[in-house]
Order: sequence, then structure tokens, then C-alpha cells
Amino acid sequence: MKVFDNKLALRQYLVALPKSTKIGFVPTMGALHEGHLSLIEIAKQNSDIVVSSIFVNPKQFNDTNDYLKYPTSIDKDLELLLQVKCDVVYIPPVGEIYPASYIHQKVVDLGVLNEILEAAHRPGHFEGVVMVVDILLEIVKPNLLFLGQKDFQQVKVITALVEQHHPSIQIITCPTMREDDGLAMSSRNIRLNSVQRKIAANLYKALVGVKNNFAEKSIADSITEAKALLSKFEDIQLEYLEVVDYNTMKSKDIWSEKGCQVVCLAAKLGDIRLIDNLII
Ligand code: AMP
Repeated sequence: MKVFDNKLALRQYLVALPKSTKIGFVPTMGALHEGHLSLIEIAKQNSDIVVSSIFVNPKQFNDTNDYLKYPTSIDKDLELLLQVKCDVVYIPPVGEIYPASYIHQKVVDLGVLNEILEAAHRPGHFEGVVMVVDILLEIVKPNLLFLGQKDFQQVKVITALVEQHHPSIQIITCPTMREDDGLAMSSRNIRLNSVQRKIAANLYKALVGVKNNFAEKSIADSITEAKALLSKFEDIQLEYLEVVDYNTMKSKDIWSEKGCQVVCLAAKLGDIRLIDNLII
């Protein structure tokens, strides 16, 4: 496994590969878990060479405390990447991604995606995501980009970036990996204390409840029921719980055909913010 902390050395390595090499790219913020590793595995099945990056992007944190407390475990991450036979890892210092004079020039039209759900609750978050992914795509120049469905709105946002500025890149969305009790794997989970960790499984339960009501109960009643379940737990502060259109992510109040909607939620347990979703 080749490890780079310098984009020129990484570019030199990548341009020396045969022209036909299919490069798969898995960007991450580190503190790797099985969810990330599943992306690497899917990338390996679909690419000739897999590049992963580890970069905790300061520009996408609207909450400084969240940034400062974001878990890091570079040595363990490298061990895990080696185990899953990732080919190349890029771990840039912040100054390489954002030189002092850096101003992001590209305009990306996110439309309503930059107003709803995550965007409404995390002002500036997607501007930061778009910025870092754009910079990383310019450096890695992959053929394929692997993203997790866990961050459903992020997939939509990056799809808009790719369609508008990197049209040759194909995005592959990978399924959400979960713990045995259904909690979506997340780097932030290790910050949950044992009580919070146990309670956190109810986020998944609430989503499953909505999914099980598909076409049986109205969307409004399903959401009310799920919110009632979560309200039993004082430690869960729900930010949103909504059924949205699979394509546009606009809020829905009437069910469409199976597979055409997604139930999304965000909640805080203490100061730890978790998100999850299920396609219905
Ligand atoms: P992050 O390190 O949280 O920025 O995530 C890096 C990539 O891993 C993103 O594409 C995420 O959507 C994806 N990811 C995070 N958690 C999971 C999970 N539980 N299952 C599958 N993919 C995930």
C-alpha cells in the first residue's frame, strides 16, 4: 500500500499508471469502521486501483466543537486499509488542501439540496463538502467515486458537483453498514457513552417503523408514530424526521411507488450528532 501526504507525489504516481487503469476513489474523514471498509471492498471489485483519502475537512464543520472532537486514529486506519488491500492512501495536511490564499472559485448549483434537511441544520456544511470533494477529485482524477448511502443528501450534493464539473466520473452508491442492533456505523459512534449507545438503536427502530407503515398508514401518521417512539428517550434530541422524494429530496406527504422515497433523520445524543436514512 502506497501512502502519500503530498499531492504532487500522488499525481506523479497516478500518471505513471497505464492510461487504461480504472481508478476508484473512496474519500473519508478517517476513524475508519466497517462501513468505510465496505466501500473499499466494493471499490476493489469495480476498479483496477483503489485510492482512499483521509482528511478531516475543517470547512464542512459548522460546529467547531464537533470538529475539535472528531475522532482520529491514523495508525489504526492505515492498518485497516492494509488489511482490505487498499492500494493508495492520501493523507494531506490541511495546508495542502487549503493554502493560505485559497478561494474556491467554482460555482455549483445545489438548488433545494442546499436548503433542506442537513443544509437547513448545518449552515455552510455542503459548501465545505463540495469544496473538499472538488479539490480531491482534481488531485485524484478518478474514474469511479464510491459514496455511502448513509449520507444520502451528501450523495445527491456530490452528484450535482460531479454532473456540473466532473462529468466523466461515475458515482457508485454503497449500502449502509449497521451494528447488530441496527445503528448505522459512524465514526462518531465511539463518542457515545454506554447509555447513549444503547438508546441510539432507537433511531433505526424509528426509521424501520416508518418503512413498515408504507402504504398501510399515511406518511403523517407514520412520522407522528416514529416521533412518539423517539420522544420516550430524553437523551435523544431529534432535529428532523422526514419522508422525502428519492430523486429531489423534497418532503412528501403521499406515498409513491416502492423505492421512490427515503425516510431521513438527524438527532443529537448529548453533543453527538447522528444521521441515518432508509429507502422505502
Ligand atoms: P466519512 O468518513 O464519515 O466522511 O465517510 C466517508 C464515506 O463513508 C462516505 O461516503 C460515507 O457515506 C461512507 N460511510 C460512512 N458510514 C457508513 C456506513 N455505516 N456504511 C456505509 N458507508 C458509510
